[in-house]
Amino acid sequence: MAAVILGCDATALRRWNYRAAVEQVARTGTFLDRWQTFLRPDVCPGTEAWLFLSGSTDAASGLIGHGFVASGPFQGADPDPGSTDWFFALTLDGLLPPGEQIRPGTLGGTLSGDLLAKVTGPALVPLPPSSGPGLRRLWDAHGPSTAGPGEVLGGTFPPDAVSTVHVNRYERDPDARRACLAFHGTSCASCGFSFEAAYGGAGSGVMGVHHLTPPALLDDSYQLDPIADLIPLCHNCHAVAHTTSPPLTITELRRISSAAGHLNGEVVQDLALRAQEDAQRILDGGQM
Ligand SMILES: [Zn+2]
Ligand SMILES: [Zn+2]
Repeated sequence: MAAVILGCDATALRRWNYRAAVEQVARTGTFLDRWQTFLRPDVCPGTEAWLFLSGSTDAASGLIGHGFVASGPFQGADPDPGSTDWFFALTLDGLLPPGEQIRPGTLGGTLSGDLLAKVTGPALVPLPPSSGPGLRRLWDAHGPSTAGPGEVLGGTFPPDAVSTVHVNRYERDPDARRACLAFHGTSCASCGFSFEAAYGGAGSGVMGVHHLTPPALLDDSYQLDPIADLIPLCHNCHAVAHTTSPPLTITELRRISSAAGHLNGEVVQDLALRAQEDAQRILDGGQM
């Protein structure tokens, strides 16, 4: 079966509302779209399609989606009546969240450098048949997981059970969270705590993310940028960040936690002393 690589850039993905497309594939298994090309594309129904994101750097590039061509080429679908652009229907059955694309370094053994150099910006490049099996293996290993969309991350409470931290929906979005942690790492941006370092494998997947743009500032056209707008925060720092509205900034959080300490904070000292006395009474077998 013939296969092609479809090149696209980040602007194209944004215009496409890529995040919504990722969500739809995760929920329903497919996302149908029209693919636009300048020249008549050499595709037919059933041609396998690999979506390649070409960014300005290798880190911003990589294999990001998979699907099949669902129609022959046709013209006249452009709203601009003078346009001679070609189109074909494309059914995508797997999309990776932005930031999780399979990078050129990983693809290197399967796709030649010459081939990758051709897939810059909007491009349609035939995939050499010899590369097909290798690409399929990479996609099976690094592509989207088949876990159900309703999955609760290990070690976290269902969102409704957490009433003291008023996270917004961007902080509960698993795709956005993965993209944020893939870029920023999994240590708390405020205190540096790492669940993996403290709890080993059991702590992976526990770090939370905090939305830096106060929800009050968001309008209807807002599109989340999981790398610029989300930051990893441990659950302690996150709870403190949300004690004010708008939330404390990361700088404010760091200043507070470095200035605090069991000895200087008056409020902390009173509470800490009382808790210590209570604990002592319990240990001594006395009554509260
Ligand atoms: Zn923290
Ligand atoms: Zn938050």
